[in-house]
Amino acid sequence: MVAATFPSLAIKGIRKALRDSKEELSELQRAKRTLEESEVRYRLLVDGSPDAIFIHDDSMLTYVNPVGLKLVGVRSLAEAVGKSLFDFLHPESRSVMSDDLSALPGVDGPMPLRRAKVVRPDGSPRQVEAVRCIADHSGKPHIQTIMRDVTKQAILEGELLQSQKLAALGQMVGEVAHDLSNIMGHTDLMEKWRTDPDRFSKSFQAARTAGSRGAGLVKQLLAFARKDESVKEPVAVNKAVEEVAGLLKETFPERISLRLRLVPTLPEIHADPNQLYQVLLNLCVNARDAMPSGGILTISTSRIDEYAPKERFADADAREYVAISVADTGVGIETEVIGRIFEPFFTTKRDGHGTGLGLSVVSGIVKAHNGFIDVRSEVGHGAEFLIYLPVTDHRSDAARVVRNENGPGG
Ligand code: ADP
Repeated sequence: MVAATFPSLAIKGIRKALRDSKEELSELQRAKRTLEESEVRYRLLVDGSPDAIFIHDDSMLTYVNPVGLKLVGVRSLAEAVGKSLFDFLHPESRSVMSDDLSALPGVDGPMPLRRAKVVRPDGSPRQVEAVRCIADHSGKPHIQTIMRDVTKQAILEGELLQSQKLAALGQMVGEVAHDLSNIMGHTDLMEKWRTDPDRFSKSFQAARTAGSRGAGLVKQLLAFARKDESVKEPVAVNKAVEEVAGLLKETFPERISLRLRLVPTLPEIHADPNQLYQVLLNLCVNARDAMPSGGILTISTSRIDEYAPKERFADADAREYVAISVADTGVGIETEVIGRIFEPFFTTKRDGHGTGLGLSVVSGIVKAHNGFIDVRSEVGHGAEFLIYLPVTDHRSDAARVVRNENGPGG
């Protein structure tokens, strides 16, 4: 009995083991299939993406999708793999992107969006918006850089900026011509009142005022014309506001009273000062036009933490902002118009009085500085344009990403 039972038990055991290993095998096969399927899906996702995707180990590329190859101007994956992404970046952008990486270790997730410049092997440049996603589970960072080609948009912004600048230059030249003709008029009067000391002195004073106003304007014109390239540098916002206010005092009609409310301790921002002047000028010119019979134009600055902008704008990711408010007591903006005011060429001004470019230039510049604009207005009760510009601090950016990983408030 025992001799007969043992082999049959053994056979049973073997059968069971066989069954188990068969199940294990099919489980393994299922897992393999799932893995293959997810690999196919991942590949479809990466290769089908309209954005350029670069996958790297530290800075060495391990995979680049077809849009990425086209963006950096190489024909095959083999040409790109093993190279550093930095090889394809303009030297200025290299430091921007490597600053991102210096925030490692400990970062896990997407880093803030940056503007950068790619230079193709044939030397042609492309403007991109880049975001890097970092996974650091095994202590060795896996990095994925996603880039979107925004060259066309950048060109459009540049063109708009240029035509806006020409319009502003035209306006200033008009003011200078006006001052010159005033001087001419008063010198004629001086000739006439040569024998009347009182009248002579009045005309002399008026000619002198027009002369010094014209000289001030010419100085501004020169400063305005000289700075063509967009160069970002540390900017003290209050100082920029004060400089623009000086120009407004010279050129705005007296029925508009200008008030400044500047918070004394503002951190510097990284900005193109010339573009910042343009933002302020455009907003103030609109405020002036909204107050044809006079009113109050108030420019204020303040320091804002990350929470208020985040509530309003999903993309807001800086820890701190400098806010500039330009508020007027003018006609206000109709509800049905407010959604269109940033469109290029949208204007409600009479023929020849508006280009419809002012606010679209403001919006382009603010976006290029990773900032945001809020508009508040009530018809008949004025309008307020609030600009948030980020205070850049890479280390605090990294800390924030880690904190978000740990959940809100973690
Ligand atoms: P433009 O000033 O040449 O019309 P903008 O792009 O600067 O072009 O402005 C677009 C429109 O937005 C203006 O025509 C006007 O209707 C509205 N707007 C802008 N700023 C103000 C303001 N402060 N008050 C009232 N309306 C404004």
